[in-house]
Amino acid sequence: MVNKMRNCPECGKLFIDTGAGMCRDCLRKEEESELIVSSYLRDNPGSTIKEIYDATGVKERTIMRMIRAGRFIGKGKISYPCERCGTLITEGRYCNKCMQELKEDIKKATDAIKQKQQKNNPSSDTRMKSRGMYSNK
Ligand SMILES: [Zn+2]
Ligand SMILES: [Zn+2]
Repeated sequence: MVNKMRNCPECGKLFIDTGAGMCRDCLRKEEESELIVSSYLRDNPGSTIKEIYDATGVKERTIMRMIRAGRFIGKGKISYPCERCGTLITEGRYCNKCMQELKEDIKKATDAIKQKQQKNNPSSDTRMKSRGMYSNK
């Protein structure tokens, strides 16, 4: 793998990306932030991102990124908004209600596809079968 020069998404400086996704300075800052947030969470489990931001000054965007990376698993619960409806949740990307609805949406979508396929060739299946049975043997 070739290391690429790119702009740091945090501070905009050019840096050599070795897979960390941000420059060394920002990476160090991020690690510090992670420690700060982790220790805050230990004392205040179940805090919302806004409460953490107010108390630690760590940007909400940074906290969300850490949550998605699974950095706080086992370090205390954190509340953050469901990506679909904004309800506060403590794990995953969606609240239980949205998870349920998304599952149903997926089921409906696959059912619709199946129905469409059946409608497009309504009797070809049976015709094929009977032709095979009588003509080939
Ligand atoms: Zn940077
Ligand atoms: Zn939701």
